[in-house]
Amino acid sequence: MKTPMHPLAHLDHQYIWHPFTQMRDWLRTEPIVITSGKGAVLVDANGHEYLDANASIWTNLHGHGHPRINAAITRQLAKIAHSSALGLANEPASLLAERLVAIANPPLNQSGGSSRSAGRERKSPGGELKLPKLFYSDDGSTAIEVALKLAYEHARRSGQSRRPKFLSLAGAYHGDTVGSVSLGHIDLFHQAYTGLLFKSDQVMAPYCYRCPHNRAAPERQDARDYRRCKWECIGKLDRLLAAQQKRGNPYAALVVEPLVQGAAGMIPQPRGWLAQAAEITRRHGALLVADEVMTGFCRTNEPHLQAGQELFFASHEEGVQPDLMAVAKGFTGGYLPLAATLASQAVFDSFLGEYEEFKTFFHGHSFTANQLGSAAALANLDLLDHQASATARAGLIQHLRRNLEGLWELPWIGDIRQIGTIVGIELVRDWRQRLPFPLAQRVGIRICEVMAAHGVLTRPIGNILVLMPPYCTSGEQVARMISVMREAIQQILGKPRR
Ligand SMILES: *Cc1c(COP(=O)(O)O)cnc(C)c1O
Repeated sequence: MKTPMHPLAHLDHQYIWHPFTQMRDWLRTEPIVITSGKGAVLVDANGHEYLDANASIWTNLHGHGHPRINAAITRQLAKIAHSSALGLANEPASLLAERLVAIANPPLNQSGGSSRSAGRERKSPGGELKLPKLFYSDDGSTAIEVALKLAYEHARRSGQSRRPKFLSLAGAYHGDTVGSVSLGHIDLFHQAYTGLLFKSDQVMAPYCYRCPHNRAAPERQDARDYRRCKWECIGKLDRLLAAQQKRGNPYAALVVEPLVQGAAGMIPQPRGWLAQAAEITRRHGALLVADEVMTGFCRTNEPHLQAGQELFFASHEEGVQPDLMAVAKGFTGGYLPLAATLASQAVFDSFLGEYEEFKTFFHGHSFTANQLGSAAALANLDLLDHQASATARAGLIQHLRRNLEGLWELPWIGDIRQIGTIVGIELVRDWRQRLPFPLAQRVGIRICEVMAAHGVLTRPIGNILVLMPPYCTSGEQVARMISVMREAIQQILGKPRR
């Protein structure tokens, strides 16, 4: 006999429209209703436990119900939850701004790679920080929207361009507001709204596994490691930027997800791509906008086991300092919606003037610089500064690496890409041909459904399975995530051939 649906699941079915979800499918099965969480474990209304294998859509860093973050929010709550940033400053947002600007301006060695010892590039020749200002907003999409408007106006006011245009990567995803969708190039998500969007240009993204210029035959390892190419992707970027500049209208900005494109399918850039792209972009008069919404707060780096010397952002790992940088998702450790757009002094200055010049940045949100979010973010940064966090992350990276190794035995594994604590596993019909499954077969979705039934939660991107566990995830939990995934792959795609 079938047990009746949980009353909360019933209410959900009755009223709630879910994001990125075919609601006809959703309404066919009883949804999992999460009621609590502890560390890497989520608990549902029936008391079943699940491993949070994608950190609640890439947001959670230190686990659920962390006592330090909970306490910080509670302490702030006893003072005040929210007051407006329109006309008022507040305590946690001011303290947080100082901390964020400090980690957004680490010492960098701009010849590529990081130098944690030298303080050479932290400051520009004028002695100022390169990203000294920040604008708060609520989520990744709004942080990108802010970057977009700032870059647009800056390009016009500096006389660089009268009709500023933007360049972003094939497969890019920068959020779901109309501005951020305009920068995106995922046809499946974005095509429907074409008539509503402004036009932005796209350039080939480095996607070594499926790159037409990669002359290497498939091997049983990350495609970046055996690629054979002549950096054609960089050549194309150079030509596009140069052509636009030659027309007397250089791009306002190149917008990139540094080191790895997330929603495109966890597509990592080969070492050196970002540093080259940044150099070319500047040479052709455009700003560099880094979307660190997914990659920020140590997601991509191999931890430096000396607390206080950590690089928090993916851009910095290639010695690159963008002109604008958007952060969100992990900013509060994944507890509350809060985002920020960091800006260079030059961008900030182009909005200065007498009131009647109306150079003001006319943009803001009701919850800009929210106190509870800021308090959570401060606690998050405290935790990241701790040795324990770096040690946990180093362990997690190793556990992922070790457990993923065994998956190569399966013939449907085309590529396994690991960037720090971010993993994308591309499924194919046959690895020797790199033959993709048709999207309509819903291979990724079906595998994740089986995983959920076995207590492991994650969402696929088409045929790409994603693992991005919270940093607190134990070795045992990682082993479980990956063995459950392996069994689900076999269950859906058949027994492995000998
Ligand atoms: C998630 C994401 C966004 C959008 O953030 P939201 O908080 O969902 O609006 C933008 N850029 C990247 C790279 C993301 O991963």
